[in-house]
Amino acid sequence: MNEKIIVANKGLVKAEFAFWVGEYLDKFYDNLENKKIVGNKCPKCGDVFVPPRKVCGKCNIVIPLEENWVDLPETGELINYTITHYKVNDRSDRKVKKPQIIGIIKIDGSSTGLVYRLLDLEPEEVKIGMKMKIKWEENPKGDPSDIQGFIKA
Ligand SMILES: [Zn+2]
Repeated sequence: MNEKIIVANKGLVKAEFAFWVGEYLDKFYDNLENKKIVGNKCPKCGDVFVPPRKVCGKCNIVIPLEENWVDLPETGELINYTITHYKVNDRSDRKVKKPQIIGIIKIDGSSTGLVYRLLDLEPEEVKIGMKMKIKWEENPKGDPSDIQGFIKA
């Protein structure tokens, strides 16, 4: 029998890829490009989803794509947060110089939360329930990075 020795090297694989986010998120990202937040409302229970969803998990019904859209403000309330010393989205160089604050923000008029970095804030200034607003990217492209993060409103 011919045995092979496999040597493993530790490393990272980078892959370029594209995927379609679906009709509901597509509409959400199209609006981000114009610095606007839209959500969709379940016609049965009235919950408003940001980002929009196809199915209301509570009622288990499909929310029609053509209707039930709601324009929402760029302000919201901080539901919860965490402070991390590691980058969330870059695994090649994870340690950060300054701890990052990641928060869950419920956009005013919606029933769900968005997860983003809280910017221009010191950890001791952060309080659950505080009013926040979106800090937009200067030149939005229609993707999640159009929102840089949230700042104190
Ligand atoms: Zn519902």
